[in-house]
Amino acid sequence: MKGALRVLYTLDVLLEKIKQSDKQYDVNKIIAAYEIADEAHSDIKRSSGEPYITHPVAVACILLEFCMDTDTLVAALLHDVVEDTDTSLEFIKKKFGEDVANLVDGVTKIGRIQYISREQQQAESLRKMLIAMGKDIRVIIIKLADRLHNMRTIDSMPDQKQRDKALETIEVYAPIAHRLGIRPIKDELEDLAIKHLDPIAYHEIEGLLSSKQDFRESTFKIIRERIEERLKNDMPGVKFVLQSRVKSVPGIYRKMFIQGKDFDEIYDVYALRIITDTVNDCYNVLGIMHDMFRPIPNRFKDYISTPKP
Ligand code: MN
Repeated sequence: MKGALRVLYTLDVLLEKIKQSDKQYDVNKIIAAYEIADEAHSDIKRSSGEPYITHPVAVACILLEFCMDTDTLVAALLHDVVEDTDTSLEFIKKKFGEDVANLVDGVTKIGRIQYISREQQQAESLRKMLIAMGKDIRVIIIKLADRLHNMRTIDSMPDQKQRDKALETIEVYAPIAHRLGIRPIKDELEDLAIKHLDPIAYHEIEGLLSSKQDFRESTFKIIRERIEERLKNDMPGVKFVLQSRVKSVPGIYRKMFIQGKDFDEIYDVYALRIITDTVNDCYNVLGIMHDMFRPIPNRFKDYISTPKP
């Protein structure tokens, strides 16, 4: 969180975010869940020293960003009470209904799956999680938000625990987020995991990226201008959006430290995207790009005609 002030997750923060969202929420139900969770966790602190309740509130805030519904937020607020306090599932069911109770139960059960080490154990937990997911996918999404907040605040944990959690995150949780197509969570989980598993490599990559920042920005600018001019000229009236992106640290890490490539051998550290409205426009733009920049043999891929799995 590079120097950013850490938000203290209070009920007010959550309510403010609810107000700002486009979705309709049952605020009374959410406040009732907060009060029960706050009371249940009242004498517990997180390893950071913050009141425990800040954790479930933070998890609810993450889920709110993904426009999850009232019951998911309510279950997020209550997700640790059954495991960590005297509050029973029966009580939750009576107060908030069967859906919320099932969500809390699902999250509690996943939390009990012990992840031991690579290989079979990983496949095993993945399988169990996917089975749990079959019943109600919201269980997994709450669990991912829970892990994301734990990873964001992992610095206050003992070193060994940091490494264990980071390993589990990269081997179990990030692939699930990937499979569900929740890109922002997958990216942040991987980034935080690598930062803690291999801090030296992580900082090396950050250094490489920032040392080339000036060059990158001026190169992007020149190429964008050339493309824009050419497309406006060759395809008048056709709508397109130009975006540039820098490869994420985990993406570069995989290529450098797992595939053994040199930073300069990674072709897609910097990329430009041209987004069009139709497939036809896309192929037309592609033709122009191949005229402007010569493709590298065997490096061209067409994911429209041959989609990724
Ligand atoms: Mn939790």
